[in-house]
Amino acid sequence: MSRVGFIGLGNMGGPMALNVAKAGHTMVVTDIRREAAKPHLDQGAQWADSPKALAQASEIVFTSLPGPREVESVALGPGGILEGAARGAVYVDLSTSSATLIRRIHYIYAERGVDVLDAPVSGGVPGARSGKLAVLVGGDDALYWRIKPVLDAIGDKVMRVGEIGCGTIAKLVHNMVSACARMAIAEGMTLGVKAGVKPEALLDALQRSSFGQGRVLKEMIPNTVFPGNFDTVNFALELLRKDVGLATELGREYHVPMMIAALAEQQLEEALRRGWGQRDSNSIFLLQEERAGVHLRTGKG
Ligand code: NAD
Repeated sequence: MSRVGFIGLGNMGGPMALNVAKAGHTMVVTDIRREAAKPHLDQGAQWADSPKALAQASEIVFTSLPGPREVESVALGPGGILEGAARGAVYVDLSTSSATLIRRIHYIYAERGVDVLDAPVSGGVPGARSGKLAVLVGGDDALYWRIKPVLDAIGDKVMRVGEIGCGTIAKLVHNMVSACARMAIAEGMTLGVKAGVKPEALLDALQRSSFGQGRVLKEMIPNTVFPGNFDTVNFALELLRKDVGLATELGREYHVPMMIAALAEQQLEEALRRGWGQRDSNSIFLLQEERAGVHLRTGKG
């Protein structure tokens, strides 16, 4: 069992720290709102007056703070963790923050013999309470395996994504994709309901069809995009272009603005102009790969 310090006892950090304590670790806590620590102090945790004092009393220091500004100030600022951490201590940031910042912190801490992991979480407040979070970790592999038993008290899906910063990058990609997907679903559902489908029936149709079954992530990316297999056609691009065109036409009939659908339609038009109509509809990935200057191939295909 370790001496664990926890800074930031908010909606996520509060219950995560309680779960670390429940796993049997000795806890030191702090927050700019002292009242946030009441449940932890009631259960025997110690209070520290500053991140520096907390780090002096801890082998592993966690932060769960709003964002980069607070992380930078607590990790590097006056009275911060770096001023109190002993050589051999470990700092783990659970916040959703900046990959560039955690890489800078890692570099500065390394000179002082303090190890760093980034480990943003996914699963919301219910997941933080129940200990059922995904924890996306970036950092040294041996360090990851050393700290994993403590992370297992926070989440049930703890995974190392890569070197320092990679957990944060994966988390930011996830939240960006989630935001865009929800906006596209909002467009689709307002279209469907305005054109006459009941909301529950539409949701059921979406849930039980290809997209709702998770086929993009489970099948299309590993089977088509990763091996670069765009000429084995499951669903031709020209058919997808037809369907998105019919949907935006329906949107015009019912006066439903659909910005994301319009953008998708224009991208499909560009793919068609390139002569990709008879290729698989996942050729739309090729357009973005070209713009980004990167290929999503694993070389295993
Ligand atoms: P929150 O605002 O509830 O908690 C942040 C805590 O940090 C607060 O208790 C605040 O008082 C404390 N704090 C702020 N500045 C501080 C400082 N300088 N020193 C000490 N304590 C300080 O936020 P949250 O919802 O718990 O989110 C924490 C992090 O987790 C964020 O990065 C967020 O993006 C991420 N996250 C949140 C959720 C969610 O559903 N809420 C889900 C996944 C990830």
